[in-house]
Amino acid sequence: MHIHEAGAMHGDFASLRPSWLGVPDNVNALLPRLWARGVERADDGVLHVGGLPVEHLAAEFGTPAYVLDEDDFRARCRSWSEAFGGDDVYYAAKAFCSKAVLRAAAEEGLMVDVCTAGELAVALAAGIEPRRLGFHGNNKSEAELREAVDVRVGRIIADSYTEIERLEAIAAEAGIRPHVMVRVNVGVEAHTHEYIATAHEDQKFGFSLSDGDAYEAARRVGTSKHLYLAGLHSHIGSQIFDTSAFEVSALRLVRLFARLQEELDEDMAELDLGGGFGMAYTSQDDPLPPADIAASLRKIVEEDCAAAGIAVPRLSVEPGRALIGPAVFTLYQVGTVKPVTLSAGASRLYVSVDGGMSDNVRTALYDATYSATLASRASTAAPALARVVGRHCEAGDIVVKDEFLPADVAPGDLLAVPGTGAYCRSMGSNYNHVPRPPVVAVRDGEARVILARETVDDLLRLDVG
Ligand SMILES: *Cc1c(COP(=O)(O)O)cnc(C)c1O
Repeated sequence: MHIHEAGAMHGDFASLRPSWLGVPDNVNALLPRLWARGVERADDGVLHVGGLPVEHLAAEFGTPAYVLDEDDFRARCRSWSEAFGGDDVYYAAKAFCSKAVLRAAAEEGLMVDVCTAGELAVALAAGIEPRRLGFHGNNKSEAELREAVDVRVGRIIADSYTEIERLEAIAAEAGIRPHVMVRVNVGVEAHTHEYIATAHEDQKFGFSLSDGDAYEAARRVGTSKHLYLAGLHSHIGSQIFDTSAFEVSALRLVRLFARLQEELDEDMAELDLGGGFGMAYTSQDDPLPPADIAASLRKIVEEDCAAAGIAVPRLSVEPGRALIGPAVFTLYQVGTVKPVTLSAGASRLYVSVDGGMSDNVRTALYDATYSATLASRASTAAPALARVVGRHCEAGDIVVKDEFLPADVAPGDLLAVPGTGAYCRSMGSNYNHVPRPPVVAVRDGEARVILARETVDDLLRLDVG
């Protein structure tokens, strides 16, 4: 068998790399839209965040670690709240939920969406005013609904008839009239650059529009003495890069809205178009600025409302990943590097890091794409096609499927993977009894832990024998 020495350095990349991944001219360069604003490669070649070198962060907090550029997150929150000024922006806490982050979002003018008692507890512990919270979920327990009513969250998004019945009973007993939105399954499924518009969408969330369930659910809420119908809600998918799918969903929602107003004489206040606005994980992704999204969504809704002959309701949106995703990178240390020859002249560098699918399951779960860069130094070596893999006992334990890294990447190097703020820590696991990494927030040139590193003792504490 032919063994191609250091094949990665002069391999036939064309046969292995995906078509979107170009061979970089400069393997040390950072593509700004993938990174938090405070991240730069300093003159010494080391990645810095908020003026702090990653080596110092690694020495102080260990690896792997999620590193949050707090000013970047706050700036994103502000740009969304300014773009939608007068309407409401809810940060979807499921993307990443901690007291410090929810507090920062609220300080920058955002409301917060939660979908479990656990997320609600964090929001309340963070001191978020309950009226600034929305409560989601397709199977909220009675205890969760009771708590949401008792603490007087701003709105509860109803997802089934069963839930409406439960809510009525709870509200009647508590003597509190909660604001309830009806989640509508609008039959639009959006993902990245494509969407499908059908009569039905085959999924668990919401009341179907075409079956008349959405109308009936809104009628039940609107005619209940114990509930207040606050409006209609839809959420059509994730990683959406243009507003064409929203044109379809908004039109369908506005028509239902108009019909309910006319037939029920309902004075609903609000129309929620959901979240799912795209962020950049790799050079393939180029999201729109929030100001453009806001202008475009408002125009769509205004035109639909004019056509339906109704006043424009208050709008709300629920971005998660677009706010927190790009504000965070994961800092790993390289443990082993293994060139694997796949065919004559074509090889891939397998770069194993000290984390993996327990801190970022999205690649394994969704075939998500990520980027990576050598963080502890710049390199003059040629680019090599690499795959960043984790330490778990699973061949699918891949963090970054395809990326060019300097061919001299070596054990001990630090590697940074950008865009890991959303659905990485929040979907993290203890697979293989690997404790979950900390989240370190950098602000004003200082770093602090906002979510501690889990320890083996934490894991053993739950193992009660
Ligand atoms: C997941 C979710 C969001 C946020 O999605 P992102 O892709 O993170 O923007 C918003 N609203 C609802 C109802 C969701 O389920």
